[in-house]
Amino acid sequence: MRKPIIAGNWKMYKTMDEAVAFVEALAGKLKESDKTETVICPPAPYLAALVEKSKGLPIRIAAQTMHEETEGAFTGEISPAMLKSIGVELVVLGHSERRQYYNETDDSVNRKVKSAFEHQLTPIVCVGETLEQRENNATSAIVSEQVKKAFAGVSETDAASAIVAYEPVWAIGTGRTATAEDANKVCGQIREVLAELYSDSVAQAIRIQYGGSVKPGNIEELLSMSDIDGALVGGASLDPESFAALAEAG
Ligand code: PGA
Repeated sequence: MRKPIIAGNWKMYKTMDEAVAFVEALAGKLKESDKTETVICPPAPYLAALVEKSKGLPIRIAAQTMHEETEGAFTGEISPAMLKSIGVELVVLGHSERRQYYNETDDSVNRKVKSAFEHQLTPIVCVGETLEQRENNATSAIVSEQVKKAFAGVSETDAASAIVAYEPVWAIGTGRTATAEDANKVCGQIREVLAELYSDSVAQAIRIQYGGSVKPGNIEELLSMSDIDGALVGGASLDPESFAALAEAG
């Protein structure tokens, strides 16, 4: 059984005070149940503080991106070694906003995925088609290609601990969610690709999240699907009330 993982991607929102207040509020709302795993992806300046703040709580902290090199002359960048040194455990890689605005490609995502594993960080590997690609019936081909490239050269042992987030670009921040059936179909295809790349047992171990306008009103249906193992949530993760409802779902 794969444990659902709910990750809140705050993107470039919240001040430090708001970030700390959120964790305090969320901690008060999370019940003892361990039905799901809860992850927060805050902006980089708050990572260290939130790692500290979430100690002893059922909340893990992820970075929203990282550089692939361990260190070097890369002004403004944050390395996997730095993330590891402050206790960050996971990192979102290849989010569509990074691909769209910061020139991330399947190749750079692949280098980052390998680097994350080298530094014992768990990658949340984002894939997903644009509206145009969906309308051209290219969803399956695009997503398969993204998965194959992201995992190129990744060992079977590492791959088994990865998390994949299927996020159709047209559903992100738009209020348009893929139907649970459509989302499940693509997540199932991703699992088939992973089975081809590795083995059935590895594909069955990898958790595949859906992302794109997930909210308390649609999470239960999404989580009831056979191949959806959680959600990567933007907008609805900003409010502790709604994020707690998501984290308690399933
Ligand atoms: P959204 O964002 O939930 O606001 O659609 C999802 C994401 O970008 O991960």
